[in-house]
Order: sequence, then C-alpha cells, then structure tokens
Amino acid sequence: MALPNTPPLTFGRYPTPVKPIAELSTSHSELWVKRDDLTHEVYGGNKVRKLEYLLSAARAAGAKRVVTVGAAGSHHVLATTYFGNQVGLSVEAIIVPQPRTDHVSQVLRASLALGMRPFPVSSWAQVPLRLAQRVLSGARPIWIGGSTAFGTMGFVAAARELADQVRAGVLPEPDVCVVALGSGGTAAGLAVGFAAQRMKTRVVGVCVAGPRSLICLQARRLARACTRATRTEVRDIQLAFDGRFLGPGYGFATQYAEDAAEEARLAADLTLDGTYTAKAFAAALWQVRARRARRVVFWNTLSSAPMQPLLTHAVAESALDPALRRLLR
Ligand SMILES: *Cc1c(COP(=O)(O)O)cnc(C)c1O
Repeated sequence: MALPNTPPLTFGRYPTPVKPIAELSTSHSELWVKRDDLTHEVYGGNKVRKLEYLLSAARAAGAKRVVTVGAAGSHHVLATTYFGNQVGLSVEAIIVPQPRTDHVSQVLRASLALGMRPFPVSSWAQVPLRLAQRVLSGARPIWIGGSTAFGTMGFVAAARELADQVRAGVLPEPDVCVVALGSGGTAAGLAVGFAAQRMKTRVVGVCVAGPRSLICLQARRLARACTRATRTEVRDIQLAFDGRFLGPGYGFATQYAEDAAEEARLAADLTLDGTYTAKAFAAALWQVRARRARRVVFWNTLSSAPMQPLLTHAVAESALDPALRRLLR
C-alpha cells in the first residue's frame, strides 16, 4: 500500500507549541522544546501522531480488533487502547515485564481500565508465538511502538509542522533535534521529514533500549522505507545516534537522567519520565554544554496530560491478577 503523506485521521491538536528554555541556554547555544507532550488533552505524547496513520489503516482494512506489543508501562499500548476505543476497535496487547516505578504501574492500570485485553508473557522471547496466536485468531497486528513505515509517516508530517513554525518565525532553524529513540519511528520520521523540507536540522536519537546496533539499524531501515513516499534521497537524511545515556538498560533509572529531569522541571516546568525523556533531555543538555550546536531543540515525546482521569476506574496494584502483577518486576 502506498504511504499517505497526510494523516487520514486526526486525533491531535496541531501545531504543538515550541518554546525556548532560556534558563538552560548559554551564550553559545539556545535550547528549545517541541511540546509534543501536548498532542492530546486526554493522552498526548508521540504515539498520537503514529496512531493517526496506523488506526486509519486498520479501519480501512476492516479490522474490528487489533493486537499490539509492549512492556508493562508501554505508552504505546495505552495510547493504542485509548485511540483504538475512539474509532471503535478493541485492543489486545502482549505485555512484557518492566522494572516497576509508580509511572509504569499507572500506565499499565490505565490501559487495563480502558479495556485493553492483556496477554502477559515473561520475556521478549515469548512474544512472537503469542502474537502469532492472536493474529491467527483474527486480530490485526500493530507493530511494537507503532514503528512501521506507516506509523513513521506521522513524524514526517511532524517535521513539516516544525518547518512551518521555522518559516513563520516561531523559532530559528535548529541545528540539532534531540529525541528519545526506542522503536525508532519518531527519530526516523523526523529525519526524513527535515530532509524533505530541505532543513539542515540533524536528528540525534538517544538510545533508550538495547542492543544499540539493532535499535540503530531499525531506525535507519524505517527512514529508508519512508524516503520513497517523500521524494527524499537516503543520502540527505541526517540521523545520528547517542548511546551514552542508556545506563543499565531499558527502563532502568540513572542518576544523570534524574538530574536532567530535575533541571527540566525547574527551568521549564516539564515533567519527564525515567525510561525515555529524562535520558533524551540529558543528551540535549550535553549538546548545549559541550557546545555541539548553536540551536538545539528537544522533542518532548511524553504525554503531560494528567493520569488521574485515566485511572478513575482502575484497580489498585495490589488487586491486579498475579500474572499481571508479575509484569512489574
Ligand atoms: C514510545 C516512546 C518513545 C520512543 O519513540 P520511538 O518512535 O519508539 O522511538 C519516546 N518517548 C516516549 C515517552 C515514548 O512513549
């Protein structure tokens, strides 16, 4: 199927704001933030833009039920459940354990409260078989993190949105855009989109999962897949990777991420998470402080909508089925 260049469904409120962070800028480098935490008032963040493409494709294919995959605190599973419901799809998810934090517990319980049907497994190795079973039962698969070429087109469009903001004088053209890199669609789509807009902005994907080589390969592969739909050349894509901020692995807290989150809170009133955005923000601060670029934009991928309304009908963690409680290691 040809990749659509404009979203066939719109869930979000666009454009999301861009703001300078004066307190963390220096005489050499300006730091800006793209507020994709505000894509939606009930549940925002980066998955909204991908799901506009993915869920419209599911609907066009006549699906009634979709199945996706994620760790216990997967924002992608929560977003797929919420927006899937909005367009009349029921949502199943294969769920893998993740280190427990309050945030991870809330995301899992919110997904369940919204009607996500869970299929807990004890490791990533068990995912393919479980997923195959669900697909054979008639559920349409939505790839982990929503990172197929289709979902990635949401961020090609997002790059166009930022280019329009640059042209309108809202912000100067960034030299570097720093973003968390998980399944890769966000960074890949932005890099393709900036190239398509003839911007000089280089994307730095901050690895938040390992193994690093695989994560980078996946992002490059997605970028290549989107060039055909956007009339860009692979050689024009500026996509770099920063693997220094991962720490012990996906979902594990690090001191520098905690420090970066505290700086973001004090200087810009941003709430970041330990799995993705605090690590990416630490990398953005490094770009500024090591004088790597004059203009740095941090792309905030975490929803800042309050979780409380999503937890109104959620069960307490202690009341979860033991198989689900084991997902919070
Ligand atoms: C999913 C997610 C990411 C990673 O985006 P990818 O497109 O999978 O690389 C980054 N930040 C947050 C908050 C996320 O939920």
